[in-house]
Amino acid sequence: MSHEGIRFVSKEEAERGAAMDGMAAKLPAEAVTPAKVRVHQTEGTGVEIEWKDGQRSAWSFRWLRDACPCATCHEEREHSGRRPGEGKPKPTTLLPMYEAPVRPTEVIPVGRYAVKFKWSDGHESGIYSWEYLRKVCGTEAKG
Ligand SMILES: [Zn+2]
Repeated sequence: MSHEGIRFVSKEEAERGAAMDGMAAKLPAEAVTPAKVRVHQTEGTGVEIEWKDGQRSAWSFRWLRDACPCATCHEEREHSGRRPGEGKPKPTTLLPMYEAPVRPTEVIPVGRYAVKFKWSDGHESGIYSWEYLRKVCGTEAKG
């Protein structure tokens, strides 16, 4: 057994590396750990999270549905150049159709790191990790 070749990375080096990774940068634990999660399922409005670092985030169910992180939805968004949470463009030539607002019929906690929604449109493959939610909320932050 030899320990040759093992090199310890200094904190500074690790941080530099993380900064260069951009979206892949690891957020501090307090930033991706919710202190409080409110799912307004009965009201049909959306989800609010209060993070341990004091930040608050809120998303509508529509937004969350359009930000579904499952492979199918992710690829579909990549393909059409949409960002998470951006809805599909509505065809303008057709008469507007009534769309029932999407909402979760079930909210399932996944371990301590994520939450899963069973949507009223039948879709349920997306696992929304706290980290994902914090990151997409960061890119979409308004006002
Ligand atoms: Zn999906």
